[in-house]
Amino acid sequence: MLIAGASLAGLRTAEALRDAGFGGRITLVGDEPHPPYDRPPLSKQVLSGWVGADQTELPALRAVDADWRLGAAAADLDLAGRSVGLADGARIAFDQLVIATGARARPWPVAAEAALDGVFVLRTRGDAAALRARLAARPGRVVVIGAGFTGCEVASSCIDAGLPVTVVEATGAPLLRALGDTIGAFAADLQGAHGVDLRTGVAVAGFEDDGTGRLAVVVLGDGARVEATVAVVCLGAAPNVEWLAGSGLAAGPQGLLCDSACRALDTAGQPVAGVFGAGDVVRIEHPRFPGEPLRTEHWGAACEQAAVAGANILRADPDLRRIDALPAFWSMQFGACLKLAGAPERADATVLLQGSVESGRFVVGYGRGDRLVAVATVNQAHWLSFYEAQIRAGAAFPPTYRRVDAPISPQKELAS
Ligand SMILES: Cc1cc2nc3c(=O)[nH]c(=O)nc-3n(C[C@H](O)[C@H](O)[C@H](O)COP(=O)(O)OP(=O)(O)OC[C@H]3O[C@@H](n4cnc5c(N)ncnc54)[C@H](O)[C@@H]3O)c2cc1C
Repeated sequence: MLIAGASLAGLRTAEALRDAGFGGRITLVGDEPHPPYDRPPLSKQVLSGWVGADQTELPALRAVDADWRLGAAAADLDLAGRSVGLADGARIAFDQLVIATGARARPWPVAAEAALDGVFVLRTRGDAAALRARLAARPGRVVVIGAGFTGCEVASSCIDAGLPVTVVEATGAPLLRALGDTIGAFAADLQGAHGVDLRTGVAVAGFEDDGTGRLAVVVLGDGARVEATVAVVCLGAAPNVEWLAGSGLAAGPQGLLCDSACRALDTAGQPVAGVFGAGDVVRIEHPRFPGEPLRTEHWGAACEQAAVAGANILRADPDLRRIDALPAFWSMQFGACLKLAGAPERADATVLLQGSVESGRFVVGYGRGDRLVAVATVNQAHWLSFYEAQIRAGAAFPPTYRRVDAPISPQKELAS
């Protein structure tokens, strides 16, 4: 049994295999030199200095008795020959394979500018340690490029550290792409209230250095120039699928395509015997959200897919387990706790379900047609399980059930 990718999804797959009674040899190949560690704290507790980047090791749920090949990247997959080639030239034969190679931060697209001293991305323990060290040296203004979850959390950690921050976001508001207008407007106000210099509707055009290879100015598309010695590029993540090129698996820029049993699909859309996928690397068919497969990049999804893949390695049709959990995500930023369940990317309209945006405590519902497909809570996490049950039950949208602290006439808005 070979697991490629030795992080959250890889570790949890190995644990699931042992839970299911697998007594054979498990080899875990990971290109990072560290044992599996947890990424969510990197943009939160690590950047704020609460814990060191080296204090994020993932707790094991059980002993896995695996052969760990750390610092070894999988470089190619020979499906017919049932083997994986490593970057160091070694080849490992497998009878079953789990692909859990996750994703990497999208770098700034101009290589010479990305290489300037002071330009950072945030995905790994090393990235977080380097950025934290630079922030601790009090560099002056920090420019965050991209206001998705990671960008907002980085900005929040910088504000907590007392550093001036400019956030540049190409769309009209932070978190707009992921969560729509209502939360986007709230997030923009929140950033403003915390002193962030938020520039929306404008992209970064490039970086200028000080003549010695250090970042000096971030130039925006509208001609504005922001003097800064630190820029954090938060432009999302790209799945690590390049090593699967030419293997016959359906893998591309959107990830490795898997069915709802976490079986990897080939380019003809058929499951490949003994090959599974889990975590941020996959794009997966979700039984609750038919249509386009989902690429969720969420901690909880990686754990569920690992559990399903690990269990199915020892099963066959019709006993295969299927993923079932709603996609779920959390984020902490500027003192607010955001939680999400469901698939807001499927929504065509939103509605305020509870509370008020002004109070900073509210719940937004996302509907597709007449069904609730997702919900996001802001400082109202205790209601999430109720709404998860509603989504699972196929509740109507806009809702007809009783709610606490609900607006008198919920206003339905088209999702952006
Ligand atoms: C800064 C940050 C904050 C986050 N915050 C949250 C949060 O608040 N809530 C939430 O739900 N999720 C959050 N996430 C997402 C969450 O961490 C991921 O969903 C989770 O890490 C996915 O686990 P994974 O094992 O699939 O992928 P990864 O964690 O990316 O691990 C994949 C591993 O495979 C390795 N690898 C890549 N290519 C190869 C290869 N060719 N050969 C061998 N090994 C390879 C990688 O180096 C890596 O070690 C956050 C992510 C980041 C980066």
